[in-house]
Amino acid sequence: MNFRTLTIHGAYHPDFQPDAVPPMHLSTTFEHRDGSDWLYLRAANPNRLMLEKLLAKLENANHGFAFSSGVAAVNAVFQSLPVGCKIVAGKDLYNGTRMLLEQLKIWKNAEIYYEDLSLNWNRNRIGEIHPDLIWLETPSNPGFVVSDIQEISTWAHQNGILVAVDSTWMTPVFMNPLQLGADFVVHSATKYFGGHSDILGGAVLVNDGKLAEKIKQVQLNQGAVLAPFDSWLLVRSIKTMDVRVRIQTENAQKLAVWLNEQTWVHHVAYPGLYKADEKLVFEKQSSGTGAMISFRIKADEQLAKRFAASVSIIINATSLGGVESTWEHRFSSEGPLSPTPKDLIRFSVGLEDVEDLQNDILEAAEKVGLV
Ligand code: PLP
Repeated sequence: MNFRTLTIHGAYHPDFQPDAVPPMHLSTTFEHRDGSDWLYLRAANPNRLMLEKLLAKLENANHGFAFSSGVAAVNAVFQSLPVGCKIVAGKDLYNGTRMLLEQLKIWKNAEIYYEDLSLNWNRNRIGEIHPDLIWLETPSNPGFVVSDIQEISTWAHQNGILVAVDSTWMTPVFMNPLQLGADFVVHSATKYFGGHSDILGGAVLVNDGKLAEKIKQVQLNQGAVLAPFDSWLLVRSIKTMDVRVRIQTENAQKLAVWLNEQTWVHHVAYPGLYKADEKLVFEKQSSGTGAMISFRIKADEQLAKRFAASVSIIINATSLGGVESTWEHRFSSEGPLSPTPKDLIRFSVGLEDVEDLQNDILEAAEKVGLV
């Protein structure tokens, strides 16, 4: 089955005939019966299992695990590492992952190193650290740094190091990190899998049986499992994911080019605008440019905040991946220690008409005196 067909039919299970769509199973426990594997909701639930199998198919993975949030999924990978582990992550990184890594220093006595994981990564430096895990986001959030998953994974495996990729921004519509050599792929399913800003969830996908067993133990014993209703909703939302993500990407491509032409914008970060090696590597590993844009405006922090708040169609809110466009002054969301520039707006492009979005942006720029 091809990808779009899989998103629509990949969760079907003959047990649910004659329903055309799966029913929801809310029971927290199951009667003990000879030959039955069902025991208790935290261990397994029909809706979660259906979703986990679907997620694994979409990432060409052997094993899939659904969690109650993207951060719980990120944490499951970290928790599968030993106490005193060393983790290398990029300098530009989703702020929630950075906050979690900082906590791991206390919880797990972990050593955390924020390194350059762009195309200029320094393998001697990473070799000296010799981490247990390299954590990649590509493109990174919100700075759009590109990492070469294949190159880093090949080197890491030669040195006994694991590689995880948070692929929330690219989604399996455009990229399959396990096939590029990564050991773990992680998603915040809250974003493009859910697609309607109404589900919180996360996923971890792996091929290796031993790693799968570790993730399973974290899921079962730490208990941050995805609820049956959210699992059911995700199976439903994933059916439109391919179409949503592709049209949101078409919109983002047009808006990135348009923003780049605005006199009051001084930098646009978007994979469709990459040049030279970044373009080559990006295109080697991803088949589409995605629907996220970061752009910097000619404004100080206060003006940038007022601009972000002056739109009427786009919602000035955090998060991303919904059919409704959202954007935000990212520095304010990340807090005073954030390395994100104070003139940067992080834009999650939705499914609206592009002309309406352009007019909305222009009106906001006029309102605050940028044009
Ligand atoms: N990874 C990335 C790249 C994200 O952008 C986010 C949330 O914004 C997460 C992980 C965390 O996901 P959640 O908010 O579902 O816990």
